[in-house]
Amino acid sequence: MQTYHNTVSGKQTEAADHQEIFNPATGDSLGLAPLNSQHDVNVAVEAARMAQGAWARVSDQERREIVANVAQVLEENSEYLAGLVTQEQGKPLSGPGSRFEMQACVGWTKVPSSLELLPETVYEDDTRKDVLYRYPLGVVAAIAPWNWPLMIAIWQIIPAIRMGNTVVLKPSEYTPIATLEMVRLINQVLPPGVLNTVSGDGRIGAVLTSHPDINKIMFTGSESTGRRIIEASSQNLAPITLELGGNDAAIIMPGTEAAAISEGLFWGAFLNAGQTCACIKRLYVHENDYDAVVTALSDVASQVPIGDGMVESNLIGPLQNAMQYNKVKELVADARANGCDVMEFGDVPSTGYFLPLTLVGNARDGQRLVDEEQFGPALPIIRYSSLDDATASANRLSDALGASVWANSLEQAETIASKLEAGTVWVNQHGAIHPMVPFGGNKASGYGVEFGMEGLKGVTQSRVISIKK
Ligand code: NDP
Repeated sequence: MQTYHNTVSGKQTEAADHQEIFNPATGDSLGLAPLNSQHDVNVAVEAARMAQGAWARVSDQERREIVANVAQVLEENSEYLAGLVTQEQGKPLSGPGSRFEMQACVGWTKVPSSLELLPETVYEDDTRKDVLYRYPLGVVAAIAPWNWPLMIAIWQIIPAIRMGNTVVLKPSEYTPIATLEMVRLINQVLPPGVLNTVSGDGRIGAVLTSHPDINKIMFTGSESTGRRIIEASSQNLAPITLELGGNDAAIIMPGTEAAAISEGLFWGAFLNAGQTCACIKRLYVHENDYDAVVTALSDVASQVPIGDGMVESNLIGPLQNAMQYNKVKELVADARANGCDVMEFGDVPSTGYFLPLTLVGNARDGQRLVDEEQFGPALPIIRYSSLDDATASANRLSDALGASVWANSLEQAETIASKLEAGTVWVNQHGAIHPMVPFGGNKASGYGVEFGMEGLKGVTQSRVISIKK
């Protein structure tokens, strides 16, 4: 059985303990991943600390070139890493799956390598000049989730490295292998100690985020773990970028042509079998359009093949883990027990954590499937009679990562979009992120933004030099 390793100071390390990782589609063993101790975390943080000063002194131009080299390594190894992601995480190679995830990894590495945060004269008059400079923070702890294990890790580590920080990354215990392999490969073009990993469960994450030598925490995951990380950061006062997922609402404006938007709606909700932070998780449809929308979505869902993602024709894979599988099943059972119309699509394999593509009609606000983040392939569809009611429904939860409005008229859509409380409100698309466009949550979906110039600022500290003239 293959054993995978952490990378610390540019070297593959040995661990005392390991856990076996299994393919969620087949149950096959994929190999052993390390389970680290507190001592291992200390060693990795020390490696990052030792490397940080020299890395910060590398010229900005050289760091840009090195990050561009990382993009090239990712590109060259895309097929290998995509295969690992599919086997470990479950999303298919094809469609918006693991090859798509690798394209995103390359894109979200290339863009920061092309950006520069120049000193900014924030004030000047006859008496003074004030210039704001950006410096690295130091050692960044990156805590990545299991749904887009490589892409989200890249979102966290590349801006940090680009700006002269060093990183200790902890992948989720559910999906460590692809991440450890990606970090091993990236390290071929990075100075030793710039990017290190530790592996294990939430307890190792807690040791890392409370470590006194951590200067910044990047976290994507659940709200409850986010709260624990805020508490842990009282140990080191590290600023945090928190992306805590959401329960995104989509509102279809009255009279919108259902067939024209059904494909976009479907993938907006069922991307990665719904295991995506910014997926449509509640769909609000005007009562007059309800039947047409359900029919159009059913037409799409009934044609999407579900199965082992290593088979090129499959477009939807399994849920990643038993916890998630059981959670989604429980929420759908609750909706059924409360009178919803549960419509299931797809031939679901008998092994693995597969669930059918599920449309849950006649759902209502207050039901668990509507109010709790399902993070799976079950979409509640709620009827509304007035746009004011739909807007109020969309805004009534504390989750506020994304939202979308779907309409024939862009002007009308923008009016509703401006009333929705979310970090991003999309029009006639959902989850359409871009490496230049800031992304982050409002309300309980977190704080701080990633991507683009704003994302780079988030991994720096500002210093002002104020000169008397
Ligand atoms: P978590 O928030 O627990 O996991 C996210 C990451 O945090 C993982 O690397 C996890 O490690 C780590 N972690 C767990 N506890 C701690 C801690 N105390 N300190 C530091 N790091 C920690 O999410 P779950 O896997 O439990 O999923 C629960 C729900 O969260 C899902 O059903 C979904 O609704 C939501 N979620 C949202 C995501 C998003 O993209 N916003 C991603 C994943 C989940 P480990 O996995 O090893 O325990």
